[in-house]
Amino acid sequence: MGFIPKNTPPAEKGAKEPLYFLINDREITVKNERNRYWIPKQSEVLSCNFNLEPSHFIGSWNGHYCYALESQTDLPVVNSLKAIPLRDAFTHFSSSGIQAISVAKQIITWDKNYRFCGQCGKPTIEMSGERAKLCKSCGLTNYPRLSPSIIVSVIKNQRILLARSDRFPEGMYSVLAGFVEPGESLEECVQREIVEEVGIEVENIQYFGSQNWPFPHSLMIGFTADYLRGEISVDNDEIVDADWFSVQELPKLPGSYSIARIMIDHFCNNSLSAD
Ligand SMILES: [Zn+2]
Repeated sequence: MGFIPKNTPPAEKGAKEPLYFLINDREITVKNERNRYWIPKQSEVLSCNFNLEPSHFIGSWNGHYCYALESQTDLPVVNSLKAIPLRDAFTHFSSSGIQAISVAKQIITWDKNYRFCGQCGKPTIEMSGERAKLCKSCGLTNYPRLSPSIIVSVIKNQRILLARSDRFPEGMYSVLAGFVEPGESLEECVQREIVEEVGIEVENIQYFGSQNWPFPHSLMIGFTADYLRGEISVDNDEIVDADWFSVQELPKLPGSYSIARIMIDHFCNNSLSAD
């Protein structure tokens, strides 16, 4: 059945017990026993007597209604419930679980960031029937924010362009990515980012696929492109190293849940089938 996102809380109690997604800035609380991981049920969370903020209904996952709640950053480990980094959680859940966790994280971030009106500074209220916060004083309405970003795999002679940011774990390389700026089309953003970060030009920009990425609220829009001209010259700001890699000599790569890795795996499969 997977995860079905929804904004409006259900009128009736569900057939299965609700799941509670306890989220803070960096972590989610999971139930962990014998190297297996679950999202805890409502009763398992309530029995821990954590100090929790009000819940937000986010949809249903395999027939369980799902609620996101903001948690403190230092919750004690109780009854096999413990907080783990969100990125680690992504490695322990299916794609529908990752989707549910992503929605929970973004709703909690939005709830925290829009408690006061950005225009007049007065407290906002949550609107019923839609995911929105209204300022009754000036009428400004705020919806959950999404920030479009491009991510692109550039290919030259069966080698892929991979780059390293100094924010990455030691030794890891990935495809280039960057936020779309006001006034820009996605294709213009692809070209600008590649020129800015590594100094080369590309052609034949093709849509690949997309992924919601909740750090904190990106929508990653993936493209492939072919090398056109120029030599690699890193900006030493966002990017500290970049190079062309064949499928036989790939460095350490991002986790398999990321669109970056899906794009790199796609390059590998194409290269191997072309050999
Ligand atoms: Zn206002």
